Amino acid sequence: MPITGGCHCGTIRYEAGGAPITHALCHCTDCRRSAGAPMVGWAMFPADAVKVTKGAPKVYESSTHGRRHFCPACGSGLFYTNDAVLPGIIDLQSATFDDPGAIPAQAHVQVAERIAWMERAHELPSFERYPPMEG
Ligand SMILES: [Zn+2]
Ligand SMILES: [Zn+2]
Repeated sequence: MPITGGCHCGTIRYEAGGAPITHALCHCTDCRRSAGAPMVGWAMFPADAVKVTKGAPKVYESSTHGRRHFCPACGSGLFYTNDAVLPGIIDLQSATFDDPGAIPAQAHVQVAERIAWMERAHELPSFERYPPMEG
């Protein structure tokens, strides 16, 4: 059963066959700034295992060889490719999977650039929804 996913607005849809090569949570500065989020989950697939089934992502040159593919309508980040460092590979932003819990992340990467407080983020108080409002 292929993994399916897409952007927030539904303009872009994709599917990926088989299991990912790896699934990592990236803490690098490029991912953080690009996503506007403290970290980004990436599931790595052979490029030929992934196909866009609806729409056409826009491509941003985020570094010399790095390419970030995103929805031109809503801005959701979707894919990362780098023909120099990762030929034949595509990384999928795993939080855009229709079932983002299906494939657990396996590692944190690029923690040299991690936001300091993220190291202990799992120890923060947690609320099913929001903390109770004061008075
Ligand atoms: Zn969209
Ligand atoms: Zn990164």
